[in-house]
Amino acid sequence: MSTTADVVIIGCGGAGSAAAAELARRGRTVVGLDAFGRGHDRGSSHGTERIVRAAYTDEMYSLMALDSFDGWRDLERETDTRLLSMVGSIDTGFARELADISTNLTTCGLPHELMDAAEAERRFPFFRFEHPVLWQPNSGTVHADGAVAAFQRVARANGADLRFDDPVIAIDVRAGGVRVTSTSGVVEAGSVIVTAGAWADRLLDGILALPELIVTDEQVFFFRPRAEYPWPTFITRTVPELYGLPTPGGLMKAGEHYTGPRVDPDVRTAPSVEAAERVSSWIAANVPGLEPTPVDATTCLYASFPDEDFIIDRVGDVVVGVGLGGHGFKFLPEIGRRLADLADGESWRGNPFSIDRESRHVGPSGHK
Ligand SMILES: Cc1cc2nc3c(=O)[nH]c(=O)nc-3n(C[C@H](O)[C@H](O)[C@H](O)COP(=O)(O)OP(=O)(O)OC[C@H]3O[C@@H](n4cnc5c(N)ncnc54)[C@H](O)[C@@H]3O)c2cc1C
Repeated sequence: MSTTADVVIIGCGGAGSAAAAELARRGRTVVGLDAFGRGHDRGSSHGTERIVRAAYTDEMYSLMALDSFDGWRDLERETDTRLLSMVGSIDTGFARELADISTNLTTCGLPHELMDAAEAERRFPFFRFEHPVLWQPNSGTVHADGAVAAFQRVARANGADLRFDDPVIAIDVRAGGVRVTSTSGVVEAGSVIVTAGAWADRLLDGILALPELIVTDEQVFFFRPRAEYPWPTFITRTVPELYGLPTPGGLMKAGEHYTGPRVDPDVRTAPSVEAAERVSSWIAANVPGLEPTPVDATTCLYASFPDEDFIIDRVGDVVVGVGLGGHGFKFLPEIGRRLADLADGESWRGNPFSIDRESRHVGPSGHK
């Protein structure tokens, strides 16, 4: 089969689906190709909730999260689907980081409170705190599977042709366009967007030189609450970093940030007993509102660059949106819009996510 399109997208996880939705809304002809089935669990965008928050130590991400909140609400309206649960968030840990987050939230005009550990335990008796706490009510979760499906519904409703179980075999960059070969045939397009997550470096080998893409298999565990508390999301800004968030079925999902083993994305590891024990003993010591034995576990890939910042850029007719790591989901509406702009040929002045190391954004690390 041979098809022509304005844009061909390789990888219809979160980023590719967001870009497909935005381009299709603009009336572009779009073909999206994914190696696995719709809603598969082999990449980074599957499962229940992801944390959405503007509480970053890096102002650029706080502002981008603020824009993304609008994008999520627009997507909810457009698809008549509830995706966000604004349950609030707790950050606890190093006082310096909490102060930086507070400054950025003030810049964003978002209310928040800093409190000492004793006051925080009075407010949130289902936690124990060793460090000060920053509470931020305008944070919460977005449903991951629901969000990706919603982007795909918008894309299809506006004419996009999304094909699953259809791995791309070759990208051929030619004068004035690209030719992409997948198992179902060939797509000729004006530009290609590569949003292939943990597989992006293989696909772009010989086409674009990316920094080293670090792929880790991260583990998350599910804990049963002892009672129906109003659970917020939480992040410990200590070493190691842990996070948790409520899920619609009532279980709390919790995991360590960035401790998973490096893997080949095609060769996954089973949930590790050691990681379960570490998270479980942390929960036992710090979250008395949860039963400390996990009732379920899953794994998910982080695909990150060493500086933990994304690459969202265009070189010739190749647009890339990769390296979203362990914190990219919340920004998907904005990432989709930026990828669509780049595919449309718009330049991004001062692009913080440039592939060019010299002009890349440099900010504090440790994002979640
Ligand atoms: C455990 C975990 C917790 C997280 N928590 C949060 C959080 O709380 N908040 C937050 O904001 N973010 C969070 N994230 C990060 C976020 O989920 C990811 O950054 C985001 O989902 C990455 O999306 P993606 O589209 O880049 O990758 P993916 O969803 O993996 O999409 C890439 C797609 O490319 C396809 N592909 C690969 N090779 C080919 C090929 N040859 N041909 C065709 N298709 C191909 C794959 O099949 C896949 O569908 C978390 C991630 C994990 C793993």
